[in-house]
Amino acid sequence: FDELAATDPEIAGVVLGELDRLRGGLQLIASENLTSPAVLAALGSTLTNKYAEGYPGRRYYGGCAEVDRAEEIGISRARELFGAEHANLQPHSGASANLAAYAALVQPGDTVLAMELPHGGHLTHGSRVNFSGKWFAPVGYTVRRDTELIDYDEVRDLAIAHRPKLIICGATAYPRLIDFARFREIADEVGAYLMVDAAHFIGLVAGGAIPSPVPHADVVCFTTHKVLRGPRGGMILCRESLADRIDKAVFPFTQGGPLMHAVAAKAVALREAAQPDFKAYATQVVRNAQALADGLAAEGMRPVSGGTDTHLALVDLRELDVTGRDAEERADRATITLNKNAIPYDPRKPAVASGIRVGTPSVTTQGMREGEMRQIATLISRAIRTDPAAAGGADTLTEVARDVADLVASFPAYPRG
Ligand code: PLP
Repeated sequence: FDELAATDPEIAGVVLGELDRLRGGLQLIASENLTSPAVLAALGSTLTNKYAEGYPGRRYYGGCAEVDRAEEIGISRARELFGAEHANLQPHSGASANLAAYAALVQPGDTVLAMELPHGGHLTHGSRVNFSGKWFAPVGYTVRRDTELIDYDEVRDLAIAHRPKLIICGATAYPRLIDFARFREIADEVGAYLMVDAAHFIGLVAGGAIPSPVPHADVVCFTTHKVLRGPRGGMILCRESLADRIDKAVFPFTQGGPLMHAVAAKAVALREAAQPDFKAYATQVVRNAQALADGLAAEGMRPVSGGTDTHLALVDLRELDVTGRDAEERADRATITLNKNAIPYDPRKPAVASGIRVGTPSVTTQGMREGEMRQIATLISRAIRTDPAAAGGADTLTEVARDVADLVASFPAYPRG
């Protein structure tokens, strides 16, 4: 860091400012986490220099012996941790992993059945503003209005009516377990591939806190930076029979040279995820999310579907008459970082939204438990109910920020760095 500070004080200031932000507030974005110093060290290593187009032992550049070792180690750790026949660690991001999976499994114009974005699906699951909606023919399934759970009968009916080539499950804002076996049955009935986008919950799978999609899916794509707590990036697991197609779809079809520092950092994260304390962490992430959802419910904020089985809760704010956008802003002023989110059948536009999404990976990494989640629910409630424009509002938000600072002081992010 001293080198950075000497060479570029402006960017060094940004890095320190971000560290202060992480330490001084509550990080409740469900898709974020605090990577370990070991992962950061691999990311900030000389491996960033190396061109290594191709795969271990089959590169288009010389000098790849060391990065070959990193990638081989990472692949074998991924296969072992997830019980997968094949792993590709090169996707630069979750969206890149999904693009490669489409490229391996379907042709432009083919029908793809996936969850609607406003119901929790991701942009890459068929949104019109994304390659998936422009180059393929998306059909969307929803959650039921009454239970706010995936309606498997609707999924099956749509599959039979539209005969998709690819069915996708896995979401960005769905708090409940997904019945992968049921999706497999439906895919088999119509002769479709099943891709599970496990970006959000693969870390819970790694820690044994929720069931694995690997035995059921043809392809499992995910990000490495959410509950899994690795570097930003993507990964793909698949059956051996699809390995060659997946590898060619990543390189050379959708990407050039892999980011070998990121591949090495993914290997480090996979090693960390195989340790016993990661199991305890993953279990605690879910317990914390449940405690947080219960706490918010007690504060008059309804968890969508009644609660959560995972690391996140989606919360309906309509009872409070506060929009998701206002809630995000108010929480931000109180140094609580969360995001506005559409709820199923949301009457508001996505940029305003009627809900928020909260997740527990970061605060669990910091060592917080159920007791702290109840305190956090109260802090969120105080912040969200406070209109900064009303008399005394700004002061109240400052008071909440002070209470947040008191809470996080006992659970510092990056205590040694
Ligand atoms: N898939 C799902 C389900 C996600 O939630 C996300 C990101 O949040 C992605 C894919 C895309 O990942 P990235 O932002 O790394 O491209």
